[in-house]
Amino acid sequence: MADRPVLDVRNLKVAVGGVEILKGLDLTIPFGEVHAIMGPNGSGKSTLAHVLTGRSDYEVSGEAWLDGDPLLVMDVDQRARAGLMQAFQYPVQVPGVGLESFVMEAGEAMGMAASDMREKVSAAAKAVGAGPFLDRAINDGLSGGEKKRSEIFQIVALQPKVAILDEIDSGLDIDAVRDVADAVQALRGPDIGIVLITHYSRILDHVTPDRVHVMMDGRVVDSGGPELADELEIGRAHV
Ligand code: ADP
Ligand code: MG
Repeated sequence: MADRPVLDVRNLKVAVGGVEILKGLDLTIPFGEVHAIMGPNGSGKSTLAHVLTGRSDYEVSGEAWLDGDPLLVMDVDQRARAGLMQAFQYPVQVPGVGLESFVMEAGEAMGMAASDMREKVSAAAKAVGAGPFLDRAINDGLSGGEKKRSEIFQIVALQPKVAILDEIDSGLDIDAVRDVADAVQALRGPDIGIVLITHYSRILDHVTPDRVHVMMDGRVVDSGGPELADELEIGRAHV
């Protein structure tokens, strides 16, 4: 079915401690598409990612569906099993837990056979260049670019339906941005929708999104094709 939404968000309102951060956000992502979300710091991009993934301590109203199933009523582990994963803006280090064994266990918890997982892990490691740190503890002692590649590696190996990538390009030099962009391209496919949150448009030089949404003060204020990112960048250059 063409254009079937993998993620559908309607009138999402989110508050923390009585302060409203998301103020009625709508977002629809069809299977097979990459949607970039751009916006200034503080516009609510990470809050959107955290609320969809299921972080607690937010006051949430509105609706969201993951491949047709109501998302906001699910616990965080149910959301992961249902096929939603997030790459974090600030990846956490998990000393003592090896990256490969973590992904293997996560895959098995999601019902994949160990032999299938082994294949997926080695294919994903090759696709995103994660081989050198597969045996190391998660993100422990990795460079900024390696941490971002590690995040994407987990997602490529586990093949969720929706991947939310929160500023995977921030804090990286040009070469690392290109590597991370290549990893995002490896993730792209007909069975996944990708939410690519970015503060800068430079990753979009390497990953052409299907749609671009501009967030401002807790709402999507503009949506368009990839050219919208260029227009924003031009606008910023003149400020
Ligand atoms: P972005 O990712 O677009 O930079 P965030 O979602 O991180 O924006 O933050 C949006 C706004 O919400 C900011 O003003 C931030 O200070 C506020 N905010 C986010 N999380 C919390 C929290 N847990 N408690 C209080 N304020 C928060
Ligand atoms: Mg953020």
